[in-house]
Amino acid sequence: MKKKHRPDTAPPPVKVDELMTGTTVFNIPFPQDLKTLKKMSPIVIKHPYHVEYVHSYGQDSPFFAGLSNGKLLGTKCRKCDYTYATPRLSCATCGRETDWVEIPGEGRVHTFTTCFFGSEEFLKETPFHLILVEFDGVDTLLLARLIGPERPEEIRIGMKVTAKFRRNSQLKPTDVYFVATE
Ligand SMILES: [Zn+2]
Repeated sequence: MKKKHRPDTAPPPVKVDELMTGTTVFNIPFPQDLKTLKKMSPIVIKHPYHVEYVHSYGQDSPFFAGLSNGKLLGTKCRKCDYTYATPRLSCATCGRETDWVEIPGEGRVHTFTTCFFGSEEFLKETPFHLILVEFDGVDTLLLARLIGPERPEEIRIGMKVTAKFRRNSQLKPTDVYFVATE
């Protein structure tokens, strides 16, 4: 419907839409004398900062597909049979291409450390235990969390451990963790 107070030939007013997002400003004091602006305290705001990364798991994708299906995958060299618990697509010993193999769900604590400080994601879970797991028939070790023991004194080198998997996969290395074998 046309508004009667404006002639038909007048261009419509040009104006950007008001944004209903971002910082909500109610009042910022402003002086009459612009000279006093030099003494103005800085405006400080708090706002959430969100970044979405799109990145590829590339050739490591099968490892994470395995975790989400409750399987621990490593790789094995086609030529020299060297087997990697942390998968490598090329053999570090001879350079040949490797094949995906399933790693046993049971292993032993090769060594461990207890972390009393951690990155932001793990801070609320400190202290936590990290173990390097050795497996029969596998030449390298796997770094993972050991869940269960409260104190480092409860962990032993050579202790048998069993892999467990998060039911709700996060497609992260922490999808797999270990507990003491019963
Ligand atoms: Zn090799």
